[in-house]
Amino acid sequence: MTKNYIAGEWLPAAEASPNINPSNTNDIVGEYARASAIETERAIAAAFDAFPAWSRSTIQARHDTLKAVGDEILARKHELGHLLSREEGKTLPEGIGEVARAGQIFQFFAGECLRGAGEKLPSVRPSVEAEVTREPVGVIGLITPWNFPIAIPAWKIAPALAYGNTVVFKPAELVPGSAHALAEIIIRAGVPTGVFNLVMGRGAVVGEAMLSSSKVSAISFTGSVPTGRNIARTCITSGPMKKLQLEMGGKNPMVVLDDADLKLAVECAVNSAFFSTGQRCTASSRLIVTNGIHDRFVAAMQERMQGLVIDDALKAGTDVGPVVDQSQLDQDLKYISIGQAEGAKLVAGGKLLKCEAPGFYLAPALLTEVSNQMRVAREEIFGPVATVIRAKDYDEALELANDTLFGLSSGICTTSLKYASHFKRNAEAGMVMVNLPTAGVDYHVPFGGRKASSYGSREQGRYAQEFYTTVKTAYTFDGNGPYVHKANPKV
Ligand code: NAD
Repeated sequence: MTKNYIAGEWLPAAEASPNINPSNTNDIVGEYARASAIETERAIAAAFDAFPAWSRSTIQARHDTLKAVGDEILARKHELGHLLSREEGKTLPEGIGEVARAGQIFQFFAGECLRGAGEKLPSVRPSVEAEVTREPVGVIGLITPWNFPIAIPAWKIAPALAYGNTVVFKPAELVPGSAHALAEIIIRAGVPTGVFNLVMGRGAVVGEAMLSSSKVSAISFTGSVPTGRNIARTCITSGPMKKLQLEMGGKNPMVVLDDADLKLAVECAVNSAFFSTGQRCTASSRLIVTNGIHDRFVAAMQERMQGLVIDDALKAGTDVGPVVDQSQLDQDLKYISIGQAEGAKLVAGGKLLKCEAPGFYLAPALLTEVSNQMRVAREEIFGPVATVIRAKDYDEALELANDTLFGLSSGICTTSLKYASHFKRNAEAGMVMVNLPTAGVDYHVPFGGRKASSYGSREQGRYAQEFYTTVKTAYTFDGNGPYVHKANPKV
């Protein structure tokens, strides 16, 4: 059994769960410990005890630790990418790319350790000085989803440690392998006992224990909207209120205008909707296409989709790997049927495929004649299922793009500077892409959305400090001159 890391020790648990390769369900990646609530509480207590010393550790020590983690991840990106693709099902190049990104994130935040800054300001009162500084928050509970098994943990763990917090990390049940490998690297880099804890297991057990602990000061969560709403409720209604960062689902639009470069638009759409098997929060599942290009776009999509190779994630030449598990596959198939029952036309894919080994293979599906009010256009499916929604012109396309509960990523394909600029300003989303897929972002700039997609401050880049630090304002009377009590009577 592969163990949890709690209070400086690798510990087995009473229960374990198998990690199954979605490309070949006969291949068991390993048996991973499932922690209990009591084991989770031990991890939280260890992180709580380790916080005072780690929060006062030198920025050089933290820099060196994070740099060592980043360096090892990058040096082992092929091996770790193989593990990631084997347990999650994204293609090997995508898996290796994700691992490299995790390494770069650790290196970025190693640098951030050395760039901490504060402000010193004159006070409105005589002989008084104001200082604004940032301090670590405390024990941070990190809860992550299955679709980015190493990048999302990296973009939470790295800033948490960089800014002096201690961590209890709960990965998703479906992908404990990459989380475990990352934990081994972090520990090898020399984090002191209790500073980092890995607690694998169920959301309802490990996650809930983190939410209800008064020793946890903040929760950073990435996952679905219903789980996010639950987490917010628990964190705010019990004990001391926790700082919260929730990154959730999407129903991201990609607008294609009449003047778009058709070939580029099709590449952007296929990448947005189907790469990583459509299992990205930034995937586009609403392709909003104006009348003048609609039929040519649909025909070009059908042709391009015929050429996609759907196969074992680890096989060279695979474009799209399997869906992550049976329940996600059932959900994808259910939504394809719902769409057809609502009047949509399935014009490509949508059928189960048989490959060499038994796995969860689905041919990417394209639904046309979709209205923005249909369930397939409003609810997150989280699989390789895209809809095409017809718009009469740019104005209607923008209106449709914004008519959604979500607001993570929003894209447009156009050769018009006028429409591109207008769209960048008016898209109600945290991230806007022009002539690019809706998914695929840099690691040094903020990531996050609006409306039901995100709650709290942004992740990644320098903006991450907003969540992983708390601001303190200190006033000092320096004694040069008399203390004037009523200098600012309004305060
Ligand atoms: P999920 O909400 O089912 O689970 C996410 C995590 O929450 C898992 O670790 C799970 O164990 C845990 N959890 C479940 N119940 C819990 C509870 N009661 N208390 C505490 N923790 C609990 O999501 P998922 O299926 O793993 O991931 C897919 C979802 O993640 C999609 O909606 C996708 O859009 C979203 N996602 C968002 C982003 C983003 O940055 N916005 C990135 C990737 C994925």
